[in-house]
Amino acid sequence: VQEDIASPKKTNDLLKKHHLVLKKSLGQNFLVDPNILQKIVGAADLDATKGVLEIGPGIGALTQQLSKAAGKVIAIEIDQRLLPLLKETLAPYPHATVVHGDILKVELQALFQEHFSEYAQVSVVANLPYYITTPIIMKLLEEKLPLEYIVVMIQKEVASRMSASPGGKEYGSLSIAVQYYCEPEVVTIVPRTVFIPQPNVDSAVMRLKVRSKPAVEVEDEAFFFDVVQASFVQRRKTIFNNLAVRYFTKETKGQLEGILQEAGIEPARRGETLSMEEYARLSRCLALALG
Ligand code: SAM
Repeated sequence: VQEDIASPKKTNDLLKKHHLVLKKSLGQNFLVDPNILQKIVGAADLDATKGVLEIGPGIGALTQQLSKAAGKVIAIEIDQRLLPLLKETLAPYPHATVVHGDILKVELQALFQEHFSEYAQVSVVANLPYYITTPIIMKLLEEKLPLEYIVVMIQKEVASRMSASPGGKEYGSLSIAVQYYCEPEVVTIVPRTVFIPQPNVDSAVMRLKVRSKPAVEVEDEAFFFDVVQASFVQRRKTIFNNLAVRYFTKETKGQLEGILQEAGIEPARRGETLSMEEYARLSRCLALALG
């Protein structure tokens, strides 16, 4: 039986042995609590027929547990200094492969074809570097990778925004983008004390179940997301005002009242009160009117 990497002592010993000083700029906060790791791995519902893409293995604490639960793990790490250390800690796990690279630049479709073609299901499981949480999630979703789940440790506030329902101040274009592609669920809240070094925010483990098709049907996805984005440019303003600024002139904005009426949306409502279905209807009516 291999010793768990996730403990304060083992982590500090490994860092000392390899003369590593962690980089805040790369979001290097390493998990040292085996119970939290088990919750993350458990949420991904893995077995030997499934593959995992991990982002940022660090010293391999999560990679080790994923390797025991899944058929194959590909872990992408940007920090070259960690590679020799990972070679050592992951030596007992031939199912795990570390790839040196920047997740935001890696060609994921090609990587999936190369590594995961024989796996029934693939999930992303990661304790994400917080400085690029949203770009990473958006890249995974927009590339329409054939994923089962995305199970990620992220900042608690970001998890609340991703899973927010209409009506509150946390609901915005990120909630709609994530919920268009996935069913989100907060698995557990995580205190900052389970990391070395401790970040200055609390975290949450979030599970996104990737939908087989988007939550609403839209003809032009890019335009749908543009309408959503436009509607939140000034949160305190009405939907009428935000849309008027983006798509109309003083002369043409008279049409907007009729378009909103056709979509069944009161012009005085704010963007944060509209459901995804309402945005879908609104973008359809707007696209028709704008030609
Ligand atoms: N998985 C480890 C754990 O749970 O203890 C480490 C997680 S740590 C929060 C984030 C990791 O992501 C670090 O190892 C960091 O070097 C790596 N990282 C940061 N930016 C990255 C990027 N653009 N691409 C790939 N890895 C990155």
